[in-house]
Amino acid sequence: MAVADALARVRNIGIMAHIDAGKTTTTERILYYTGITYKIGEVHDGAAVMDWMAQEQERGITITSAATKCEWRDHTVQIIDTPGHVDFTVEVERSLRVLDGAIAVYDGVAGVEPQTEQVWRQAEKYGVPRMCFVNKLDRTGADFYRCVSMMSERLGATPLVLQLPIGAESDFVGVVDLLEMRALTWRGDTQKGEEYAIEEIPADLAEQAAAYREQLVETIAEADDEVMEKYLEGEEIALPELRVAIRRATIANKLNPVLCGSAFKNKGVQPMLDAVVEFLPSPLDVPAIEGTATDGETPLQRKPSTTEPFSALAFKVQTDKHLGKLTYVRVYSGKIESGSQVVNSTKDRKERVGKIYQMHANKREERSSAHAGEIIAVQGLKQTTTGDTLCDPANPVILESMSFPEPVIQVAIEPKTKSDQDKLSTAIQRLAEEDPTFRVANDEETGQTVIAGMGELHLDILVDRMRREFNVEANIGKPQVAYRETIRRKVPKVEHVHKKQTGGSGQYAKVIVSVEPMPMQSDGPTYEFANQVTGGRIPKEFI
Ligand code: GDP
Repeated sequence: MAVADALARVRNIGIMAHIDAGKTTTTERILYYTGITYKIGEVHDGAAVMDWMAQEQERGITITSAATKCEWRDHTVQIIDTPGHVDFTVEVERSLRVLDGAIAVYDGVAGVEPQTEQVWRQAEKYGVPRMCFVNKLDRTGADFYRCVSMMSERLGATPLVLQLPIGAESDFVGVVDLLEMRALTWRGDTQKGEEYAIEEIPADLAEQAAAYREQLVETIAEADDEVMEKYLEGEEIALPELRVAIRRATIANKLNPVLCGSAFKNKGVQPMLDAVVEFLPSPLDVPAIEGTATDGETPLQRKPSTTEPFSALAFKVQTDKHLGKLTYVRVYSGKIESGSQVVNSTKDRKERVGKIYQMHANKREERSSAHAGEIIAVQGLKQTTTGDTLCDPANPVILESMSFPEPVIQVAIEPKTKSDQDKLSTAIQRLAEEDPTFRVANDEETGQTVIAGMGELHLDILVDRMRREFNVEANIGKPQVAYRETIRRKVPKVEHVHKKQTGGSGQYAKVIVSVEPMPMQSDGPTYEFANQVTGGRIPKEFI
């Protein structure tokens, strides 16, 4: 198959959701139906295949951005995992940067939740075409129609309702397909929903389905001139035409196809995959990536073609148990070959490409090369970190990178056992290479190592990873006050102070102190003088 044909059959997608909406369950079902997963289990039993790290299973959140490849109806679907917790918005951001389309998963009971809103806006920033999957329709209180209204009201989306639920809560059995005007039902839970029946639309839904079908055509017409022309003329619009128009309008970000189901009850996932293939863009459908020459100014573009010079963006560095450091890259143009020399144009360094891997849910496939539009993991890159461009040495380019927010909290860190200091430093350095929002600094004045991140959970998880992956236990606590504080208080007597100036009356003292929380544990700091000369406790009046 010619490369362009193969590329037209690639879908690089992300699944985004508020935590607990069912992203992991939906992903797991996708991997099951696409035939890759050999084991299906509930996420909290620790069988989720996308959650690579043990702690994610314990916490029930997804924080890695692993890319997993699967096949559906003669197409390659590459799922780029996006986390659902607010502390990891940067992870969402970096995956949004390299994917071509997304599915937003909603909890049918809660509807649009804060994190859905945030991720939706991030996707908008990168112009990522989106479909919606209203999940959990088997739950008490689930309301598909309310969720659709929330999409327009809260997200400013243009929902294109392609399905209606059949039955509600425990009687939810399937969906009405409004394009084909038929019912898809999953009755009985025995086969993990692998098979479903195609039936007539139930009589009690017929009228509603007809009204929604009419609205569907109208919404498509509003987004697509060709359909609008026929619509106004009163002409019949054939189904294939409608489908093409939906694809066009979805890719142009004018519409958001809406589907529904219950991932947990194995209903509705396969038609959603059909819609991914049918309506979300291939790498050929998205605009060429913009960049600059190495002067950082002259604009350059790279098209998704193998005849263009090689360019790629690193979007994730991950330490694999067996393979060591892996750098996930999206190839934007040309071809990357294992064993070749490339340039990291962001850092102006040469890099040698080691082995190249394609990650599946349950296996790693070694590849000799990968071409434009593909997402692969590269071994052996030493200097490359998230956001860096890799390119052909003869045709350098710096691709539009990602913007990373500044960390919002900082804590001091020290090893539980003093002799582990070197191990801790190595762990921190490795994790900082992987995660651009994780920063580390040594405070010269206090001698402390201070780490900074996007939130408490973010730092907790990193400390947890230090323990699991680097075998080093660390304590964290409030950093010492890095500045010298001047306190002017009326005190009867001041002892053990670093510097003292008596005020005019002899009753005021200007005291310069460093405040250090000790010991570094969460059960509340005890303040002590940091200064060795003074020692002793700070008099109450000074705190
Ligand atoms: P994530 O945080 O978005 O990845 O959500 P999970 O996939 O971990 O799901 C959160 C919880 O909701 C888990 O207990 C799932 O078993 C449950 N869940 C997921 N999908 C459904 C569904 O369609 N119906 C019901 N009733 N529960 C679901």
